[in-house]
Amino acid sequence: MKRTLLVGGVNSPVRTFAAVSEPPLICSYARGSFLYDTQGNKYLDFIGGWGALIHGHSNPRIRRALKKVQTSGILYGLTHDGEEKLANKIKSFIPFIEKIRFLNSGTEAAMTAIRVARAATKREKILMFSGCYHGHADSFLTKMGSGGATLSLPLSEGIPHGVLNKTIVIRYNDTEGLRKAFHDNPDIAALIIEPVAGNMGLVPAKKDFLTEARKLCDKFGTILIFDEIMCGFRASYGSVAELYNIFPDIILLGKVIGGGAPVGAIAGKENLMSLLSPEGPVYQAGTFSGNPLTCNLGLAALIEIEKNRNINHLENLGFIMDSILSDTKRITFVRLGSMCCLFFLSEAPENREDVDRQNRDVFSNFHKKLRAKGILIPPSPYETWFLNTAMKERDIKNAALIIRNTAEEVLNT
Ligand SMILES: *Cc1c(COP(=O)(O)O)cnc(C)c1O
Repeated sequence: MKRTLLVGGVNSPVRTFAAVSEPPLICSYARGSFLYDTQGNKYLDFIGGWGALIHGHSNPRIRRALKKVQTSGILYGLTHDGEEKLANKIKSFIPFIEKIRFLNSGTEAAMTAIRVARAATKREKILMFSGCYHGHADSFLTKMGSGGATLSLPLSEGIPHGVLNKTIVIRYNDTEGLRKAFHDNPDIAALIIEPVAGNMGLVPAKKDFLTEARKLCDKFGTILIFDEIMCGFRASYGSVAELYNIFPDIILLGKVIGGGAPVGAIAGKENLMSLLSPEGPVYQAGTFSGNPLTCNLGLAALIEIEKNRNINHLENLGFIMDSILSDTKRITFVRLGSMCCLFFLSEAPENREDVDRQNRDVFSNFHKKLRAKGILIPPSPYETWFLNTAMKERDIKNAALIIRNTAEEVLNT
């Protein structure tokens, strides 16, 4: 079909595959761990709905939940018990949260979190890190100024200077830089971070760095926000906060907790969360927020994650990937839980600037060759790859061997 009406032929820019100079992949259907395009090609899918599909496509329990919603209603625009069920299930994995608000996307969650932080602190500045992504609200479409200057630059046109000037961007995993940012700006409302960054390949924060962030936030009265929209239920089977035993004031969730339906969530301590309307003065609302479709699918996805056999299976898949991809010289394979990424670097990167040192042509070539061999990795060197419970051990073993050979092949050409 000719694609003349959609802007750029897509509804989200990465889907053009322009970053790897390829035509877009137009999907026709997906089952289990495989995705099929309109030309009949079959791919082992490492994109996994950008992380949302931890059970792959068409998981039986999620299908049953979908069937239930078919007869009981997709949308009420009113409250229902499914919301509290999903909230309770999330709390069983992430016990430190006291209150939660569901929204429809990660973007909404991040946007709302800084509004709450600004209201709580009566301050305006926010601190974020180069290479982290927090959705497409104005405040976060910023990058680090040249030379590591803290004055941020816009990543998009149309962002008011007044908004841009309130965002400070510094290097990820740079403890000295973090101290300096607080020293120079004692009036920061919120520090927002992906504690395991999945939007610059895969770069986990160092534990010391997160500990220092927690300390500085306590000292300066700044709200600490963990954006776990991607790494939540992925880096571990709960939150990175619980995994590292470092607790933010606010945690953002999304992707996995919707079971494939649109979702976002902001959660945290009662005193902050109660600032949200209708309890408090910070306005936030949504026609589709907490809808039955999302809540039922999300609940089904989390119930599946509770199963030991699923966690063990994901770990096994991870070990297979590690064992085949870890000991190669000119590439570095990084994995945490069901997130992984291969870098054309001799050491694991610590920040976005390290990730940038990869050769873009090598990556494009790698992507193209893998696609031709039926392996679909994200069409950008800045995206994490995802494992899912529908993947079979033998498929992953085959894929890992092909990935390894292909990486060596592109490095040798
Ligand atoms: C995906 C993502 C978002 C944005 O979520 P959307 O649902 O796409 O708006 C925000 N933060 C992180 C870390 C993400 O990975």
